[in-house]
Amino acid sequence: MARYGELFLKSEPVKRHFIGMLLRNIRKALGAAGLECRFETPRGRILIYGDNPDRIAGIVSRIFGIVDVSTCLRTSPDPEEMKRAALALASSRLKTGMSFAVRAKRQHKTGMDSQELGRVIGSWLYEHIPGLTVDLDDPAYEIFAEVRDIGGLVYDGRLPGPGGLPWGTQGRVLVLLSAGIDSPVASWLAMKRGCEVTSLYLDAGRWAGADVTAAAIENHRRLSLWCAGTPLPMVIADSEPLYDAMSRQKVPPRYRCVICKRFMLRVAGRLMEHEGALAVVTGENLGQVASQTLANLGVVADAASVPVLRPLITFDKEETIAIARGIGTFVAKPGDLACRAVPKMPATAAGLKEVLEHEQTVGIVDLVDHAVINCRFITALDGRIVDQIPHVRGE
Ligand code: ATP
Ligand code: MG
Repeated sequence: MARYGELFLKSEPVKRHFIGMLLRNIRKALGAAGLECRFETPRGRILIYGDNPDRIAGIVSRIFGIVDVSTCLRTSPDPEEMKRAALALASSRLKTGMSFAVRAKRQHKTGMDSQELGRVIGSWLYEHIPGLTVDLDDPAYEIFAEVRDIGGLVYDGRLPGPGGLPWGTQGRVLVLLSAGIDSPVASWLAMKRGCEVTSLYLDAGRWAGADVTAAAIENHRRLSLWCAGTPLPMVIADSEPLYDAMSRQKVPPRYRCVICKRFMLRVAGRLMEHEGALAVVTGENLGQVASQTLANLGVVADAASVPVLRPLITFDKEETIAIARGIGTFVAKPGDLACRAVPKMPATAAGLKEVLEHEQTVGIVDLVDHAVINCRFITALDGRIVDQIPHVRGE
């Protein structure tokens, strides 16, 4: 039994649409794992029937929109049958001497009330497992019994899901994905709020450490585990000539980071339509590095002709790392991940006028054109890279 959260707040037609998307996503994820299942959608719940409930629960607990998942015994609404199911379930985990509580709930207020149902089940357990104590405040073991239109449900655990909105309900975003820690978390948070995602990585060639591209692809691959059964596209655009030009034209090194970030937004803005995206997402964070002072973020944002979402803007690094650990993107990526274009002292308040002049000098428009045309396309599916198209997209 899967529960969903915020969808309750929607109007009936929107709710129906969202639940349809949620079901589609669950079907795809279970299908990708080779699991055949049957579904029922009574009010507020999704019931999934299949041969391997624990595996099903594990997969469904990674679907955006799901608040939690329980593996249940399905019974009739008869308390006699429910108490026997409760004992069958509890007997493997509820041991002599333990404290326990029964949480009973009824969808309708007819027949036996919840308290009475709880008492019937509780007494049955109490009689059959020796030495139990009832503790309603802080029990060592909790068992739940629900009577609904469809019958009875008995379960004793809840596997938390990510919450959020179903993947695909909010349209597509283009995520500036790097080899770092922040942008995969930003991408995941956008996915969690219902966005479909295309990753965009700018490959600085020999200006980036030898292992940066592989690490960015690894981030993308790991994110694909969060939309099981759905291919996750990635665009890799060639940005090497930008750094060549900044070096050749002797752009003062302290301006490089801001020009680089503005360049990324320009390239993203140009690729958005092709990718069908409605906004750009970055892992930018206030004050994290010199290029992310409030003044510089303003100068960077000036280059964007499209909406830019920055889910991590107010996060502390520790908060971001905690999420990264939880979602499986915080992993040691050994090798050379340095950026050779970063100066010792980047400007903390780059003047927009100077930045625009330097961009003119390097021929920024042609450099953006070059990056947009020289792209490779990669697809990740269920944690595997399934497709690499190393072609040049002539425009
Ligand atoms: P992250 O912030 O993801 O940990 P980082 O620290 O390497 O990566 P920053 O210099 O903090 O990157 O850049 C801020 C944001 O710019 C990143 O969060 C990401 O959205 C974007 N970005 C940085 N480098 C790249 C790149 N090579 N390709 C695409 N986007 C990038
Ligand atoms: Mg960062």
